[in-house]
Amino acid sequence: MRAEPAHQVRLLDLQEVDTELDRLNHRMRALPEHAQLQQLDARLTQLRDRLAVVETELRDLDREQRKAERDVEQVRMRAERDTQRLEAGHVSSPRELESLQSEIASLARRQSELEDIVLEVMERQENAEERRAALAREVAEAEAERETADNRRSEAVLQLRDELDSATRRRARIAEEIPDDLLDLYRRLREQNAGIGAAALRYGRCEGCKLELSTAELREMRTAPPDEVTRCENCRRILVRVADSGL
Ligand SMILES: [Zn+2]
Repeated sequence: MRAEPAHQVRLLDLQEVDTELDRLNHRMRALPEHAQLQQLDARLTQLRDRLAVVETELRDLDREQRKAERDVEQVRMRAERDTQRLEAGHVSSPRELESLQSEIASLARRQSELEDIVLEVMERQENAEERRAALAREVAEAEAERETADNRRSEAVLQLRDELDSATRRRARIAEEIPDDLLDLYRRLREQNAGIGAAALRYGRCEGCKLELSTAELREMRTAPPDEVTRCENCRRILVRVADSGL
């Protein structure tokens, strides 16, 4: 392939911008905030699930509490009726009297048991409420952390987009100056060679693969017509002759 030496040198500028674009795109993909946000989202999902479990527990305890209070109230009212009957003096038979007194005593025991249940449910409620408050705090903290990370990512993305835009414009200007066939070859080689399609020959070394050229290879480079698009024998990249090639 033939191309003006100036166009070949311009290819090195294009390579520089393309390398810059690759670097910026990689930084965009590898922003630490991406992973951080993913972790925070996973943590938030887990915390919200745990919060939902505690809230269900609290609703169940609320029902349990109301039932226990109703039970206490029923027993208390029955004991009150019995006591009123006893105090009214309508019960005269000793057997009936004894049975009523025994029922009042048994109701008192039952009421005390039921009140213990109410207290126990209240303790469980307090415990669940503490866990809910702690989880709610953790959710709020994780949400704040997520917002900070999200803002930081947005800033980094904006900054990178700016740099990408400016590099893309620079690339377009340079590419315009280079003939299509040379561009095509460069693009193919860039795809095959880890993003580097053209390299300078500097001080007898290919800057693409970093290998020194042999004496014979250097002679060939020296004697090749200036408009011949020379290639590295080792890495096959376009090898551009420059002022300090050492030829
Ligand atoms: Zn090479």
